Amino acid sequence: MSRFDSILGTIGNTPVVRINKLAPAGVNLFVKIEAFNPLGSVKDRLALGVIEAAERSGELTPGRTVIEATSGNTGIGLAMVCAQKGYPLVVTMAEQFSVERRKLMRFLGAKVVLTPAAGRAVAMVTKAVELARTHGWFLTRQFENEANADIHSRTTAREIIADFAGEKLDYWVTGYGTGGTLKGVSRVLAKEMPDTRIVVCEPADAPLLASGIAQERNADGSASAPHPAFKPHPMQGWTPDFIPKLTADVVGAGVIDRIIHVPGPDAIRWAGELARKEGIFVGITAGATFAGALRVCAEAPAGTNVLCMLPDTGERYLTTPLFADVQADMSPEELEISLSTPSAQFPRP
Ligand code: PMP
Repeated sequence: MSRFDSILGTIGNTPVVRINKLAPAGVNLFVKIEAFNPLGSVKDRLALGVIEAAERSGELTPGRTVIEATSGNTGIGLAMVCAQKGYPLVVTMAEQFSVERRKLMRFLGAKVVLTPAAGRAVAMVTKAVELARTHGWFLTRQFENEANADIHSRTTAREIIADFAGEKLDYWVTGYGTGGTLKGVSRVLAKEMPDTRIVVCEPADAPLLASGIAQERNADGSASAPHPAFKPHPMQGWTPDFIPKLTADVVGAGVIDRIIHVPGPDAIRWAGELARKEGIFVGITAGATFAGALRVCAEAPAGTNVLCMLPDTGERYLTTPLFADVQADMSPEELEISLSTPSAQFPRP
């Protein structure tokens, strides 16, 4: 289908693509590229899911302001959905997340309220709760909202099942930010494709799930203190400084078969390799999930089918370590190419 009533109809149905060069011979590694969503990330699904659930429940009435704490992609997705549906949007965001994310949200009409880096994710959430309470705004609560997981059960999980119909899927590999993808997909796979092993990746610097230390929570499920196993990591959008309720639910359900720890440099390396060897342009958490999937592939027998989630586009990371080694000026090699013909030359430095 290529004709839609609004941009919202283009959310989901993202392609599953075979990896041709980076996977070990004999292992079938596939990636699900969430960058194909209209605003470039998996969070477009959540944005539509939480807004439409709140419309159905009556919590969100026409013209009511929507507010959320987000490291970026959720805010960008919400900004799109709110723009299309006509809700004002306020986003709170810790100042360390990339500048292009703020600008994107503002371009889409949202207001972005920054919180100091030292307060990390807990501070931006506290600020959002406070603002919602003070002004009577609708807080989407992406970390606890069941509508987040539900949209993944209704869409992402169904797409995966359809794409592997009549075939086996041996491993499904994902990371977690809120755990919406993880919870929504894993519960459907556990029921309908019980032989598919669920592999969860987290940053080597922030092994919250593997630590086995429970998260302290408020009565509403939100985190009441930073998790002691957290250290800052470069995977923006993965593992905040607490274990989200949606993620803890999956741990509790006992459906996780394996937890893999990915060092920051591996995430950046594999995002680059995907771009240069496969032409797949994705972000840092995608590189991280792919690094985890390669570890699964390395130990898997020939004929194994592995599906790896790639959460967002690489275009969101131009000012981050992902592009640290990419220069704006011509390299000596590029200058040589320029000088090899007479026109439009720059002087040799
Ligand atoms: N990667 C990126 C770049 C993200 O923005 C997010 C969402 N915060 C995720 C991965 C994880 O998705 P989820 O919230 O569904 O766990």
